[in-house]
Amino acid sequence: MNAEKNIYLTFDDGPTPEVTLRVLALLKEYNAKATFFCLGKNVEQFPEIYNEILIQGHAVGNHSYSHLNGWITNNKKYFADVNKASVLIKSRLFRPPYGKLLPIQWFIIKKSYKIVFWTCLSKDYSEKINEEKILYRVKKASKNNAVIVFHDTIKASKKLLNILPEYLEFLKSENFNCVLIK
Ligand SMILES: [Zn+2]
Repeated sequence: MNAEKNIYLTFDDGPTPEVTLRVLALLKEYNAKATFFCLGKNVEQFPEIYNEILIQGHAVGNHSYSHLNGWITNNKKYFADVNKASVLIKSRLFRPPYGKLLPIQWFIIKKSYKIVFWTCLSKDYSEKINEEKILYRVKKASKNNAVIVFHDTIKASKKLLNILPEYLEFLKSENFNCVLIK
């Protein structure tokens, strides 16, 4: 019998009605909790899906309003975009879009947020990698305290929804607790 382990499942770039609700149903089936790094523009458009994430006991994080790349965006514009999202997303968690943040942006943002990166990017959005390889990647990366990134977006949905049941089954069989980022 394996010892119990914690893992942090995260879903970025939503909420997206067609995808997020199906992800929520799967998480419920496996009694798994996750953290959704939402885009402000999507929360604005689909507030009821955002509320559903919270009602079902998951966590949310700020992933900016419009998914700007910190490396090529001036700081004033970047911080304004994060602040605009903070009105819609009540969270002390922040994940920079593309994982790209300049040192000065990191320094300022970490004053108000816990900045959350990841240990494994599933690449569920990529055309260049098949479902089998994605499953292999995420299973291999599943270790105690790992942070796994998926995307509850239309682009990633076909792959994500095909692999998620098997992945959740795997985590259950390996005695992982899927827990919230706090
Ligand atoms: Zn993103």
